Amino acid sequence: MQAIVKAKAEPGLWLEEVPVPEVGSDDVLIRTLKASICGTDIHIYNWDAWAQKTIPVPMTIGHEFVGKIDCVGSNIRGFAEGDLVVGEGHITCGHCRNCLAGRRHLCPNTQGVGVNRPGAWAEFVAIPATNTWHADPAISLDVLSCFDPLGNAVHTALTYDLVGEDVLITGAGPIGCMAVPICKQAGADKLGMKEGFDVALEMSGNPKAMLDILPNMFYGGKIALLGIMPSSAPIDWNIVVFHSLTIKGIYGREMFETWYKMTSLIQSGLDIWILGTAEPRHFREGVVPAIRQALDQEPRLIPSRSGPKIRHGWPKK
Ligand SMILES: [Zn+2]
Ligand SMILES: [Zn+2]
Repeated sequence: MQAIVKAKAEPGLWLEEVPVPEVGSDDVLIRTLKASICGTDIHIYNWDAWAQKTIPVPMTIGHEFVGKIDCVGSNIRGFAEGDLVVGEGHITCGHCRNCLAGRRHLCPNTQGVGVNRPGAWAEFVAIPATNTWHADPAISLDVLSCFDPLGNAVHTALTYDLVGEDVLITGAGPIGCMAVPICKQAGADKLGMKEGFDVALEMSGNPKAMLDILPNMFYGGKIALLGIMPSSAPIDWNIVVFHSLTIKGIYGREMFETWYKMTSLIQSGLDIWILGTAEPRHFREGVVPAIRQALDQEPRLIPSRSGPKIRHGWPKK
């Protein structure tokens, strides 16, 4: 099959012929219908310090995708050929304390699809059935393909109760933009804040955002951090302590509580419009230069009657 491979320890990606993945007894083999580009893929493309220490080469990359089950392992019940599915890209160990307690998103032994094991920018990808989510066929393939980052937005936004709360979102990339209609739908206050923000969602990873957030929080405010700050990012601890703020780090999606919630949000009207997903046939038409072009383009926010929509994708020819 054809796949986008990090074939060499240098910047770039290569379209290569690789074997169809083997399907273990607990796995499903998925034929990819659409895939999306994540910031993680850009790090891998650029071969920065994180990628160099994390990615073994060669590696088929990509972890945001939707597809149809092609075949299932011998132990699998509940999935069958032709089912429309989305993959949860964090493969957890199943035997640590958090996995056993049902907190799989907190597994310290997590492996990443398209990071530590072969990914989804390929005609087929194999993942454990326990990482596979039955998708609602009424939801567009473009949106399903973005369930991974949409799940980040939903997990972060719904970490705290938002009903009637004044919410500050820092970071207007795709995930920050997706968080806006999620917060509205979850009941965040639209009338204007008087005393300070009750909840902040940090989605930029920019250290300046934290410096802006802290003095603008109301006493007892709660902050969820999704953006990845440099480890040396400064924090005014006096504000955190004297204003009794709560700070929580968010990673990935709760399996599969976040997946239920994002499906339900979309079924009840959450409107996320995404352009720029790719199909395997686009890979053949030269997705590598297309990725390069996409890197040079900023995501754009387009106002609409039903709230902001996201476009992140290929530039117009
Ligand atoms: Zn991603
Ligand atoms: Zn575990």
